[in-house]
Amino acid sequence: MRIANVSIEGDLDDFGGRALIVNTDSEVGTFKTPNRAMTSFEFQYKSQLPFRPTLKNQVSEIVERFYGDKWIKFTSTNGSFYRRKNNLDKYSAKMVYTIKRFYPQIASEIIISKEDIHQLLTLQRMGDLDFISMPNLHPSESNFEKISNSFTQEVLADKKEPLIYLDMGLEPHLFRDRFRILLELSHSDQLHSIGLIYRSIERNNQNYEFLWRNRAHKVLLQMSEIQREFSGTKLTSTMHLLQKFGIDSFGVKMGTYYPDKEGDRERKPRTFQETNRFDPNDIVFRRFREWSDHDESLNCNCLVCKGKTAKEFVAEYQGEYETYLGQTFNAANRIHEYYRSTDEFEESRKFIRSGELKEYFKNKDGLRASDIPISKNLFNFK
Ligand SMILES: [Zn+2]
Repeated sequence: MRIANVSIEGDLDDFGGRALIVNTDSEVGTFKTPNRAMTSFEFQYKSQLPFRPTLKNQVSEIVERFYGDKWIKFTSTNGSFYRRKNNLDKYSAKMVYTIKRFYPQIASEIIISKEDIHQLLTLQRMGDLDFISMPNLHPSESNFEKISNSFTQEVLADKKEPLIYLDMGLEPHLFRDRFRILLELSHSDQLHSIGLIYRSIERNNQNYEFLWRNRAHKVLLQMSEIQREFSGTKLTSTMHLLQKFGIDSFGVKMGTYYPDKEGDRERKPRTFQETNRFDPNDIVFRRFREWSDHDESLNCNCLVCKGKTAKEFVAEYQGEYETYLGQTFNAANRIHEYYRSTDEFEESRKFIRSGELKEYFKNKDGLRASDIPISKNLFNFK
C-alpha cells in the first residue's frame, strides 16, 4: 500500500486536534482521523465472545512484544523468528481488508543495531503489511538520519509505506531533531507517516507541545502502546486526551488481564465489580460496580451491551470454557470499549472540523479534568 496524499480538513484552531483525510491506493481507499486502530490483542477478545460481532475498523495494528530475552532470542535464533512470522501471518489473514501496521514493542533501553533493523525488515516483508516499521533508535545512535534514509529507500522499493517510530520519552532536543529529519522525508513524498511510542504526557510535556505546534504538517501520526487510563487518580481515557496534540491514530497498550504465568492467576483478573468499564459520556473508566450495584441499564447500544442491564451482561458473558475466571466478561468489556471509543472519535471529529474541540472537551468530565492547557502567546518558538 502507498499513501497518495494526506490532507487536513477544516482550519486548525487554537485549542488543538486535527482531522485528516488519508488517500491510499489500497482496497480500503480513504480513511479519516482521528481514529482508533484495532490491535491484535483486542482482536483476540473478539474470538472469546459467544458471537462474532463485526468490527468495521479501517486500521489495524499487529503488536509483537520483544521483552527481556525474547529480543535476544529473536535476534539470535531461527525458531523465534519463525514463530513471529507465523503470528504475523495469522493476524494479517484475520485483518484482511484493513490497513495494517506493525508495532515491535521493544524495551527502550535496548540498543538496536543495523543488523536488528534488517532482521525486523525481513520479518515484515514476509507478512502482508501496509506499513513497514523501524523501531525507535537508542538516544546514543548518532546515525539516525542515515539509517532512516536507507530504511525508507528499502521500503519504497517494495512499494510499501515506511513507518519510523520515535519514543515520546526522548530528550526534547533529540525528539525535535529526529522529528524534523522525518518531516524532511515527508516533504519529498518519501514517507507520509511517523510512528510515536506513548510515554507519559506529564513527564514529556515539551515533546507533546512540539507536536501541537507542528499540527499543520501533512504527515499521519500513528501512536502505539497507549496506556488505557491516564493516571491512577484520573481514570480518563488517555487516547482521547491525546487527540488534542494532533496525533491521528491510536493503538492501546496490551491489557494486564490475560495471565501470562501460572502465578498470575491468583491476582488476575479483578472481580467483575472492580473491572473498569469505559463510559463514553465522560470519557472515563468507572468500576462496573457503579452499574451493577443498582442493576442499572448499561445504556449502551453497542453490539455487546445492546438492551442489557448490568446483571444481564454478567449472565450473558459467563463462558463455560475459560482459561481464567471472567475471561469472556473481560473480552465483552473490551469490545464494548473498542466500539464506543471508536464512535467517540467520529463524534469529536465533527467538533474538530468546525474548530470546536474545546467545546467537546468541556462537555466530557474526564477530558476537562485531565486537560493540561498549552501556553500559546508566551513563547512563540518552533
Ligand atoms: Zn457497549
